[in-house]
Amino acid sequence: MNKLCIEDVPLSGKRVFVRVDFNVPLDEHGNISDDMRLRATLPTINYLIDENCRVVIATHFGRPRGERNMKYSLAPVRKRLERLLNKKVLFSGDCVGAKVEQMIRELGPGQVLLLENVRFHKGEKENDREFARALAGDCEVYINDAFGAAHRAHASIDAITRFIPVAAAGFLMKKEVEYFDRIWEDPVRPVAAILGGAKVSDKLGVINNLIGRVEKVLIGGGMMFTFLKAMEYEIGNSIVENDMQDEAREIMANARKHGVKFYLPVDCVVADKVDPSAEIKIVPVQEIPEGWSGLDIGPATMRLFAEALQDARTILWNGPMGLFEMEKFSRGTRFMAHTLADSYALTIVGGGDTDVAVHQAGESPNMSYISTGGGAFLQLMEGKELPGMAALTDKDQLQAGG
Ligand code: AMP
Repeated sequence: MNKLCIEDVPLSGKRVFVRVDFNVPLDEHGNISDDMRLRATLPTINYLIDENCRVVIATHFGRPRGERNMKYSLAPVRKRLERLLNKKVLFSGDCVGAKVEQMIRELGPGQVLLLENVRFHKGEKENDREFARALAGDCEVYINDAFGAAHRAHASIDAITRFIPVAAAGFLMKKEVEYFDRIWEDPVRPVAAILGGAKVSDKLGVINNLIGRVEKVLIGGGMMFTFLKAMEYEIGNSIVENDMQDEAREIMANARKHGVKFYLPVDCVVADKVDPSAEIKIVPVQEIPEGWSGLDIGPATMRLFAEALQDARTILWNGPMGLFEMEKFSRGTRFMAHTLADSYALTIVGGGDTDVAVHQAGESPNMSYISTGGGAFLQLMEGKELPGMAALTDKDQLQAGG
């Protein structure tokens, strides 16, 4: 890694701005249902506390669309963070402004301040310079530990680094990027990639980049129907991207050309409506009834996929196999989680929905690595640089500057 990391920077007593990704899921009562993203940044925050830094933490939370909406306040996150750090966490009602600046000025060594949601301001998503300048305030060091948001060039990720002299990766960011590089540059072969989720268009770049790099690609989830339709199957009311038919055919032709084995489901669970009370049946993909929707992979596909993964030494997985949020359509995804857990391969799960599914299956401890990033993980799989990494200070720049 040619970017500065937290350990490369003299930190003692400094005012440090830390961008994290505390975009955690809440249950229906507003309680945090999974705090993995908080726990993942504890090494960085604790390190800064030990270095007697004045720690200013910033994150986005949900989609408040640039407006102050208390549904997306970080108040519940502050409480959980206090519990995890076993330490008082100060909380500002905003992330910029005179009151916040004063709170930051008054921070003592080792004290922690959590700023309110950066997405309460339009400037965050617009990567606005003035907003970034206000966020940066008088902070002396910037640490990015928000791997889950590193694919977005937003103000607290990108523009802010122009207003703080030194910008470095936190421990989580470093671990995520280094782990990915290792399996990407020199994986133990054969490598199999499993892709699911709703849309081919979201993952087109990834699939194209995978072909030529991996030995096998397995497709599940809603995107399977775009491929099936491209092969002129009847797919009933299943979700489909009609404008992606050519791309789907091209992907399959490209896979053949490069000797990449491309697996599509052979059966699926269909439902008469998209609802937990739906009537369901299992059909071969050639027999999807008119008016019914395919919402999960079927048992024959599970067996096929398990067989296909038998000889893999590295398995990458991103995207659920079906509409797993509904119990009736979650079997395929759960099955894949168990299959990976039992595999001898190195198993890497790309975050977002997939990590929730693995967690629900109780298999989190049995994966080799679970990334905290969904979009960021996909962007790495696409072979693209992450804006959150690009914005950090180059290693040789610090040396050159002394
Ligand atoms: P993505 O964000 O593209 O990974 O898509 C994940 C979403 O796709 C999840 O919310 C799933 O419920 C949904 N999904 C997966 N399979 C299907 C399907 N067959 N029909 C409709 N939605 C699906």
